[in-house]
Amino acid sequence: MEINTGAFMPHFANPLTFKEDPLIVKKAEGVYFWDSKGRKYLDGVAGVMVVNVGYGRREIINAMKDQLDELAYNFLSYSVSETALQLSQALTQIMPGGMKEIFFTTGGSEATDTSLKIARLYHTLNGEGERYRFVSRWISYHGATIGGLSCSGHAPRRRHFEPLLLNFPHASPAYCYRCPFGKTPDVCGVECASSIEQLIRNEVPESISAFIAEPIVGSTGGALVPPDEYFKIVREICDKYGILLVVDEVLTGFGRTGAMFASDHWGVKPDIILFAKGVSSGYAPIGGVALGPAIAEKFESGKGVEFAHGFTFGGSPMACVASLKNLEILSREKLSEKSLKSGEYLKKKLMELDRKIIGDVRGRGLLVGVELVRDRASKEIFRDDESVGAEISKQALKRGVKIFGLKGHDSGMISDFLVISPPLIIEEEQLDTIVSVIDQCLDQAEQKYIS
Ligand code: PLP
Repeated sequence: MEINTGAFMPHFANPLTFKEDPLIVKKAEGVYFWDSKGRKYLDGVAGVMVVNVGYGRREIINAMKDQLDELAYNFLSYSVSETALQLSQALTQIMPGGMKEIFFTTGGSEATDTSLKIARLYHTLNGEGERYRFVSRWISYHGATIGGLSCSGHAPRRRHFEPLLLNFPHASPAYCYRCPFGKTPDVCGVECASSIEQLIRNEVPESISAFIAEPIVGSTGGALVPPDEYFKIVREICDKYGILLVVDEVLTGFGRTGAMFASDHWGVKPDIILFAKGVSSGYAPIGGVALGPAIAEKFESGKGVEFAHGFTFGGSPMACVASLKNLEILSREKLSEKSLKSGEYLKKKLMELDRKIIGDVRGRGLLVGVELVRDRASKEIFRDDESVGAEISKQALKRGVKIFGLKGHDSGMISDFLVISPPLIIEEEQLDTIVSVIDQCLDQAEQKYIS
């Protein structure tokens, strides 16, 4: 059969632009993938911050094949596979905050939606059923479902779907390079955290169920790292108003930011953790929600209340076995530590480029963002009709390196940015290749956009 893109609809893309020059991926190994014409690329984004242990890991693939022979499918309602039990146990042992139970989904958006329901039911069991709203932040992403998108603070992804979205308040982002409170790090009062209290008070505190945040903002902000005190203050506010703290580790989990979970950088103690992506390194679709002690205990003792929620393909035996092997590899090869070290190296190399289009280099571990500006001193952003980030990623792909280049639309608050987030196994010479290609593309962009 002739292969063409006619019947296919791409994700997060304009179908017409995509189909003009589609990238058809054929195979992958280590940190590289090959297209259908046999061209080799360095994957500088690990799929989409997913393939943490790299492609082609035989021990994961073989374990999945064995699992397929033994048990291909199981529905997690009134039965459970041994692998789902093993993975639940393994995850609770490595997660921060003394997580007690795991609810499996097939990805991150389902995890966010599930957490909305878990939080709601928890409050209902506590006699506070009127708590139904999540507070989130602008410049954030928590999923594409209506629940996930209602939490997300990304104007372009929300725009066409109003007024379907739920009425969830959004706080200011923790965005030090362009502090929404006009501060600089030397005089920072962490207003991005303390102002959440005022927002909650304005929005009827008794209606708020949880505060949700990515510990380090990934795809919508280009690796925004909060001030060190941020989550301590957030935790105090949540406790003061009886609000749960949901930490979205979908993108940041499993070594991505140089710790097993980004929460570990600051000793955050979430009530609920969302995970997906790196839990299986993409060998099978899986995600989930981890419940902290107070919630797990409430559900266990909650008069046997049924949690009427689940997914046909949640926590499939194959996805669980892939995840178990993936966790083994992450730990055996100390990939969190490697990610931290490689991330520092990558940031140093990017800063050394000293290009005037680079406004900020930021991130932790192998989640690195580069914000692009027309003018460094004034931090002037690019116009809406200038797709600087997207053009740079297109040029990089032509040179055999995949990175993300995104338009930071959000109400003019953020400029175009690049995200570099390769598999955690990447070596320094391969990082050098990424930096060299970025340098060539930035040179081209400077000539075009900066006079
Ligand atoms: N949460 C965060 C922080 C994400 O980055 C993403 C996806 O990029 C999601 C949730 C949604 O996950 P999924 O695409 O698996 O539904």
